[in-house]
Amino acid sequence: MEPIIKLQGINLYYDRGRPTEVWALKDVDLEINKGEYCAFFGPSGCGKTTILYVLSGMESERVSSGQVLINGRDIAKFTKRELAVFRQIGVGIVFQQFNLIPSISVLDNVALPMAFLGISLERRRAEAQKLLERLNIAPYALRLPAELSGGQQQRVGIARALANNPPIIICDEPLGNLDSENANKVLEFMRELNVKDGRTVIMVTHEAWSLRDARKIFYMKDGKILRVEEPKERGDVVQAVSKLMNQQLNPDMDEPQIMAKTLSNMLLRGYSVDEVKRFEFFLLQRLTDHTEGDVFREVLDRPYRSGGVGLWKGKAAKIAFLVEGIMEQRHTVEDIYTMLEKNPESPLIEEVQRMRKWLLEEYTGKVDEQQQLRLDELIAERLRNIITPKNFAQVLNLSKKQFGLGLSMRTANRIAEKFESILGGGENVSPAMKL
Ligand code: ADP
Ligand code: MG
Repeated sequence: MEPIIKLQGINLYYDRGRPTEVWALKDVDLEINKGEYCAFFGPSGCGKTTILYVLSGMESERVSSGQVLINGRDIAKFTKRELAVFRQIGVGIVFQQFNLIPSISVLDNVALPMAFLGISLERRRAEAQKLLERLNIAPYALRLPAELSGGQQQRVGIARALANNPPIIICDEPLGNLDSENANKVLEFMRELNVKDGRTVIMVTHEAWSLRDARKIFYMKDGKILRVEEPKERGDVVQAVSKLMNQQLNPDMDEPQIMAKTLSNMLLRGYSVDEVKRFEFFLLQRLTDHTEGDVFREVLDRPYRSGGVGLWKGKAAKIAFLVEGIMEQRHTVEDIYTMLEKNPESPLIEEVQRMRKWLLEEYTGKVDEQQQLRLDELIAERLRNIITPKNFAQVLNLSKKQFGLGLSMRTANRIAEKFESILGGGENVSPAMKL
């Protein structure tokens, strides 16, 4: 089947030929298939909004080279009427600033896009009412937008985007002005539009956590698509993106800082920004040996208002244990690298065994002797950089017959990721973390 949207070699300039010229899209190629939930992710100014305009047919004049294909048809060859139809009923767009018309009622804002289709006012209002109901804002139908809260206004924005029942929903940073509860509601609804209605959802954001439902992520920088990743499940997304974001958006951070950030996001998933920030601070202190292990542990379950992180005791103990393990293993890794530098043939037997035990700490399944030996070999190969993080995970997942360990993909990825967490940032990113 043809992709629902395909861009080929797109280049776009603003202010072309003037001193203020900006080369906003550089040789962009991409494919979006029907029913996909995909996302564009990247720092401010990297061209996300511009790309949305291009793929919704709103920037055709400015595109200087390349093709936009909608269901296989070149948009440049659309008649005026066809282009108008595509813009009006092919895509629905949800904006960050809501873009509601302030002087007309919520109901009429939602009914407005249908006017284009020549539907009677009465029917438009009836349809709009249904959409408001679906979004739980029917009681506000006759109010003006300004009388609604931000979260409610965004739901009006979504209802309006759905007005002509478009198969493609585009969201340009729809969560920027919302608190976390409302942001979650919006994301849940987008997921529903994708899963239940089978609509193609295209999400633009610069916040990693809001990518959780995307199964194809285009990572953009300076007008280019740097990477495309297709995470299989939620867990993969958060880790992939937080690591990538820390590396790409904060190139000035050194390794312990990147590590503290990545681990904080991973370990305190679901906690408030303030809690995560405070945790990150103490974690960095600990990772750089500015805090003792027992002080770190104590501060984790000290109440937040008394300067601690405020975790419950069990969680605090578990995290402290994990962090100590990571630190210990990192020292081992440093020792190993020193040894290998002196003698590349160093046997590393004890170090590798210790590392294997640590890697398997949370694994509850049984590991027989043959698997242990195989894992030791793999650890040594990975330490010597003979295999990539991806190979490492793949072999864990391969069946025993194929000389693998026969672990599930999930377990294999988890172990690989744990291993990469001590091998130190830079290029050493695990498969699940790699975008
Ligand atoms: P993002 O949505 O990722 O923040 P944009 O697509 O809005 O990025 O912008 C990409 C680049 O193009 C930026 O450098 C921005 O300043 C520039 N740009 C965007 N719109 C215009 C415009 N109308 N005129 C001139 N430059 C623009
Ligand atoms: Mg933008």
